[in-house]
Amino acid sequence: MDFRLAPEQEEFRGAVRRFAEKHLAAGALERAHASGYPWDVAKLMAKQGLLGITIAEADGGQGGTLLDAVLAIETVASVCPRSADVVQAGNFGPIRVLAQYGSPPQKERHLERLLAGEAVISVGMTEPDAGSAVTDLKTSATPAPGGWRVNGSKIFTTHSAYADVFLVYVRYAPGVGGIGSVLVEKKDVRLGKTSKFMSGEEWAQIYLDDVFVPAENVLLGEGGFKKQIAGFNVERIGNAARSLALGRYAYERSRAWALERRQFGRLLCEFQGLQWKFADMKMKLDAAQLLLYRAAANADRALPSPEETAIAKAYCNQAGFDVANDALQVMGGTGYSQETLVEYCLRRCRGWMIAGGSVEILKNRIAEHIFERSFPQR
Ligand SMILES: Cc1cc2nc3c(=O)[nH]c(=O)nc-3n(C[C@H](O)[C@H](O)[C@H](O)COP(=O)(O)OP(=O)(O)OC[C@H]3O[C@@H](n4cnc5c(N)ncnc54)[C@H](O)[C@@H]3O)c2cc1C
Repeated sequence: MDFRLAPEQEEFRGAVRRFAEKHLAAGALERAHASGYPWDVAKLMAKQGLLGITIAEADGGQGGTLLDAVLAIETVASVCPRSADVVQAGNFGPIRVLAQYGSPPQKERHLERLLAGEAVISVGMTEPDAGSAVTDLKTSATPAPGGWRVNGSKIFTTHSAYADVFLVYVRYAPGVGGIGSVLVEKKDVRLGKTSKFMSGEEWAQIYLDDVFVPAENVLLGEGGFKKQIAGFNVERIGNAARSLALGRYAYERSRAWALERRQFGRLLCEFQGLQWKFADMKMKLDAAQLLLYRAAANADRALPSPEETAIAKAYCNQAGFDVANDALQVMGGTGYSQETLVEYCLRRCRGWMIAGGSVEILKNRIAEHIFERSFPQR
């Protein structure tokens, strides 16, 4: 076992760091507080080969590994936390599910613009009455000549306010086995008013009012739910990586602060009460990193294991939030102020404890693995 990165991984990480420092460092604070999608960053990243890292070269991607994509998202986040969302959208989110299961015409239609940083795809799973219990979703797909009629609505969808295409979970028939997914274009949905999460991210309710979806836009038919969630585990890895990376970002700022800020005539780092906070932060970050790399490295280019992903995401989500919170405390009023990105990191990390499988739901999954049996929650 070797815990060091291979020379080519180090080289890749170095190239991403140079790119981020050159193009993303300067506007990092403003970007975090700006609304809308950072299209300028997306285009720059496309040119740099940072979108589609794990997507096959034949589909226009880079043919890299999941760990490469994790290195990229962490490195970008360490310079510009907000820009890490673009790495997420271009590698870990529904784009990856589309690349994994899409038909050649579906990929041809959408991937080129997504990989060029000219468009973004959203995943619509959550509904007003189906959050953690996502398999309770009601959005229906009923047969129509040449395709399906889709009716329902989705909430909390990341990027919904400006996405070009939506990967929508639908119900073809009753039960878990009746769930699959379709691709719906922006022109076919009705968006509600734009709302904001505590993180500042925008979302809008998506209404599907008798939308006709041609058969060729079905991504996964009846029985597709398991595959859908297997693909979604990649999204969870990206979500875990950003939690860890933003926690680390806050930690690095607070470490530098503790080395320069003086109170009572001493540097903050000389107070034992704060030293122990730093020791706790460091232990959490290192443990989270190892769990994340295990899940990503074992998956390589395929999909990560549900158990390793659940463990990595639950731990990284909690660690990222705890560390950002402690880092903010160490920085006092400065940490709580919008003059630094520490408060932003805290707000973002809080959201990932809920999004993409909450910490509680992931722990349920881990318990099922421990006891080798399922625990139906109904
Ligand atoms: C920042 C952010 C981004 C998001 N992006 C998307 C997106 O792009 N697409 C999308 O479809 N959705 C998205 N969501 C929605 C997200 O998936 C849901 O919020 C999540 O699944 C929880 O559902 P809920 O909010 O309805 O909470 P509920 O399901 O009502 O849960 C409320 C609380 O109860 C807990 N709980 C529920 N059931 C159990 C149980 N059996 N055991 C223990 N605890 C339980 C939950 O963990 C939670 O803490 C996003 C959410 C956030 C916050």
